[in-house]
Amino acid sequence: MIKLDNVSKTYQTDKVETLALKEINLHVKKGEFVGMMGPSGCGKSTLLNLIGLLDRPGSGTISVDGIPLKSYKDKEVAKLRNSTFGFIFQSFHLINDLRVIDNVELPLLYRTLPAGERRQMAREALEKVGLGARMDHYPNQLSGGQQQRVAIARAIVGQPQVLLADEPTGNLDSKMGAEVMEILLRLNGEGTTVVMVTHDEREAQRVSRIVRVFDGQLVA
Ligand code: ADP
Ligand code: ADP
Repeated sequence: MIKLDNVSKTYQTDKVETLALKEINLHVKKGEFVGMMGPSGCGKSTLLNLIGLLDRPGSGTISVDGIPLKSYKDKEVAKLRNSTFGFIFQSFHLINDLRVIDNVELPLLYRTLPAGERRQMAREALEKVGLGARMDHYPNQLSGGQQQRVAIARAIVGQPQVLLADEPTGNLDSKMGAEVMEILLRLNGEGTTVVMVTHDEREAQRVSRIVRVFDGQLVA
């Protein structure tokens, strides 16, 4: 589904050049739950951003469903990203002035859908994460675990094929983290491909495959 061939990425800031990823070869297959592990600064977020088409590689090739990214225009890449991927982060990035339901609906505003249909899709996404009864709450009226579940609903509302999660349980206590992990496992069971950065060995035991990153390279 997503294939990286010899992908490298260098960050250039003022005088400093950081080689964040070096000649990565990785194939994420449809239906997999890939766990990504490695020490801080080793390149995990950079790799996740490249897989999710948020950034372009310095060299090498990224292909989605066999089509290399290079053959798309920027606008087409944005469209492909929005239709293929949902993103979840360690901090939930919810908008506190908007009700839960409106937060979840946000990604759909870019699609030409009738308002009623958007609302219905947001409702269904919230029901999937067990928060159907919290639609009219504001994010800061919810626990951290519930807020992350809202963020998951927002990530899945457009029915993406792939869910990319950067330490989604990193800010949660173990009970709330376990709930979030259960939801990700269930979504994967229903067919969504998941790539998740984690530092948690128990979570790592539940995924289909672990990719280990060290100093910008895949070591296992
Ligand atoms: P984590 O280690 O939890 O993955 P970081 O705190 O390293 O996250 O990175 C958070 C954000 O800051 C990312 O979007 C990353 O691209 C950016 N970032 C990380 N390191 C640097 C840096 N040296 N200069 C500029 N931006 C950075
Ligand atoms: P991780 O997610 O494993 O913590 P990152 O992918 O965030 O690692 O970072 C990999 C390396 O690239 C680090 O040395 C980091 O400082 C650097 N880096 C990440 N993002 C940026 C950025 N936007 N600008 C400059 N350097 C960055």
